Amino acid sequence: MTDLAAELEAIEHASNERLAAATTVDAVDALRHEVLGRSGSLTGLLRRLGSVPAGERPAIGQRANDVRRRLETLIGGRLAELETDDLEARIADEAIDMSAPGRPLRVGHLHPVLTLMRDLREIFHAYGFEVFEGPEVETEEYNFELLNIPPDHPARDLWDTLYVAEPGSIEAGEPRPAADQTILRTHTSPAQVRAMRELDPPIRVLTPGRCFRYEAVDASHGFEFFQVEGLVVDRDTSLADLKGLLEEVARALYGRDVRTRFRPGYYPFTEPSVAFDIGCLVCGGSGCPACKRSGWMTILGAGMVHPEVLRAGGYDPDEFQGYAFGMGPDRMTMLRHGVDDIRLFFGADLRFVTQFSEGR
Ligand SMILES: [Zn+2]
Repeated sequence: MTDLAAELEAIEHASNERLAAATTVDAVDALRHEVLGRSGSLTGLLRRLGSVPAGERPAIGQRANDVRRRLETLIGGRLAELETDDLEARIADEAIDMSAPGRPLRVGHLHPVLTLMRDLREIFHAYGFEVFEGPEVETEEYNFELLNIPPDHPARDLWDTLYVAEPGSIEAGEPRPAADQTILRTHTSPAQVRAMRELDPPIRVLTPGRCFRYEAVDASHGFEFFQVEGLVVDRDTSLADLKGLLEEVARALYGRDVRTRFRPGYYPFTEPSVAFDIGCLVCGGSGCPACKRSGWMTILGAGMVHPEVLRAGGYDPDEFQGYAFGMGPDRMTMLRHGVDDIRLFFGADLRFVTQFSEGR
């Protein structure tokens, strides 16, 4: 065997080995360049055929061409294979699996207190009440005077009021100014006077909203809370109408078997005033810490609208009567879900709030 024949065999052998080991298009391309390229090893060998003795030249030439064709075929095949693999990998990478289940969207839900307020609205809507909203920023006149609470009335001690002052107009530590001031409403009752002044009788409104008091915050008191009040003004309404309505509402909220009772109460803007209790939902009436061992829970305050308040709203108390009632949705929500700290409602802890997602 001539030197060239041995060289040819070595090139083919090495090429086959490298080809078998090559796993990328780049590696096969490099091999093709090094063997079959213009300055490749096989190309170089073919150029040197002229130096072979004439007698051996046809045979060795034939073999060299065979090797070149085989390598070309093998390299071309392997390249096609790897390119296909590459493409498939890329498609697999980029493809969207249309049959895969989608990622669930996080859908929000109402705060549990708002859910309860919405329930109240629906219940009272069935009794002909519509929603009437007043402003959260009020005047002392609407918050107190027009509700039969004059400046020197001892009932004002019931409310620790947040005053809205011009910057710098009140020095720290000074007593609060006596003249009419802008305040954050301490209850939703001012909306009752606004409703009386704005609407024509008969009036049946619900006045839900946020109220503010300068309270020390603890498990059962917030400086910010909700109220839902109701007001009816009409000819010939009486305490009996109020009683019948509230008993129906209690059944709608807490079930047909709920026990109810009225107790005397006191509010400056109603006369007479009552407190409305239901049988304790926790112990059923036998007495427990939740009802302070009384077997009863107060869920709202109510009464006949005071003649002075009717006058403030533009009505003649000899011709019109009215009744009003007020509920605390925060406390009612605590009862409904067994929550023992009102501060949780106003905190920003999603772990607490998202527990109520089954609500509307
Ligand atoms: Zn109880």
